[in-house]
Amino acid sequence: MADSTRPLESDSGRQALERLNAVFAAQTRAFDKDRNPSKEARAARLDQLIGALEAHEDKLIAAINEDFGHRSAIESKVADVVVSIGAARHAKRSLGRWMRKKWVMTPMHMMPGGSRIEPQPLGVVGIIAPWNYPVQLAISPAVAAIAAGNRVMIKPSELTPRTSDALAEMIGSTFDEDLFAVVTGGVEVGQAFTELRFDHLLFTGSTAIGRKVAMAAAKNLTPVTLELGGKSPAVIDAGADVEAAAYAIARGKLFNAGQTCIAPDYVFAPAGKTDAVVDALVAAAKTLHPGIDATDDYTAIVSDRHFERLGRLVEEARAAGARVVEVGDAEKLRAQRKLPLTIIVDPPATTGIMQEEIFGPILPVLTASSRDEAIARINAGERPLALYWFGEDKAAEADVLRRTVSGGVTVNDTLWHVAQEHLPFGGVGESGVGAYHGDAGFETFSHMKPVFRQSKFSSGRMIDPPYTTRTSQIIGLLRKFV
Ligand code: NAD
Repeated sequence: MADSTRPLESDSGRQALERLNAVFAAQTRAFDKDRNPSKEARAARLDQLIGALEAHEDKLIAAINEDFGHRSAIESKVADVVVSIGAARHAKRSLGRWMRKKWVMTPMHMMPGGSRIEPQPLGVVGIIAPWNYPVQLAISPAVAAIAAGNRVMIKPSELTPRTSDALAEMIGSTFDEDLFAVVTGGVEVGQAFTELRFDHLLFTGSTAIGRKVAMAAAKNLTPVTLELGGKSPAVIDAGADVEAAAYAIARGKLFNAGQTCIAPDYVFAPAGKTDAVVDALVAAAKTLHPGIDATDDYTAIVSDRHFERLGRLVEEARAAGARVVEVGDAEKLRAQRKLPLTIIVDPPATTGIMQEEIFGPILPVLTASSRDEAIARINAGERPLALYWFGEDKAAEADVLRRTVSGGVTVNDTLWHVAQEHLPFGGVGESGVGAYHGDAGFETFSHMKPVFRQSKFSSGRMIDPPYTTRTSQIIGLLRKFV
């Protein structure tokens, strides 16, 4: 339970904590009475969620837009609303297959008994969401948790307060609180949330906070899925089509103005082609956002603090002697808290831009003299959430994939591996623990319970005590089959 001795900053903070505890207690009680909801009940819940998303779509998009200052309505529709509806539809279609008991092989010496895996709901699931895709990253883990038969509580980000309220309104007007609820509040509520004895906690956010969440959850031995961030590289192979690669990288970087966990963070250009890569990136950015300085539908940076952080990263790299190419009028865009694609050529490894996750439309382009050098430099850092490789040489592709460890990969494009329910999504090492989406999401939020059913005749009894020479002979025979 939450630490009731924690000093509370305000009455509203106190109320938020009280509600948090009350909802958790209600969900725990409700789960006790409904421990394994039927396929029909789960499908009905998913249908309700799809209906709610469709009915509240315009309100959600407007709220995200206000929270960001400006968020492209198309980007909100695609990456927040449609992706969430798609996840729910996929889950509904898959319920029968997911919920089925799965028979597995039984070793010969245990036959004719039978072995199976029975998926079972865990109970009450907590989801902590970040601000960058505030609907998708709250709803799509919830879809998996509901499909798996659980009760769900979401704690959205305080950085997108209007969207958090719109989500709370949508879920509150659609579901009973003891089934599915949104609790809003700041870091204080987030901390109390992690102290609840959830049956599973999924956190999406920064690696630094993820570490704190894991430590808080560890006190209750609450299992966690951590969807974190990091520096995701894009590697352009010597034989790659530079224009096509640059276009895909610029699109992946500029979607949501780089505020995407799997946005390409930096690029390796092959030796001798750095200028060609920079030129192609400039051309691609101009194609994608031709009117960026005027009225273009280009997403703003979420807050002044984030905007200033990005500005500092650019200025530090410039002061360190790196060439900076701004694809748009940065001064003019400043008033709207927008940043054009800002390419930084070969910044020193010690600059902030090469040390921290950028999370904005700034793109370092580094020259790699060889594939080995690119691989070595990737492996010198933390394991990234995504890796992008561009080229046609299958052996080179296999080499890069074999010698680097990343959460996921898209070859010859960016971002797309996240947008499909048939692939699990998650990080590795500092970029995350566990995965969700599709089958992986259902399994994350289920106890995949192993069951062995003994038959009337059990060959195992042959080795029961009292032990005799005959027991040793049977074990001698059995060991040939294990
Ligand atoms: P953040 O870590 O600052 O916050 C995430 C959430 O944690 C928010 O809801 C916040 O209120 C809550 N929180 C803050 N302190 C807490 C605490 N001590 N205990 C419990 N909860 C706490 O992240 P952010 O700035 O909202 O999001 C950006 C980061 O998220 C980037 O690093 C990005 O890469 C990562 N991210 C990862 C994924 C993914 O799927 N792997 C997706 C989107 C964003």
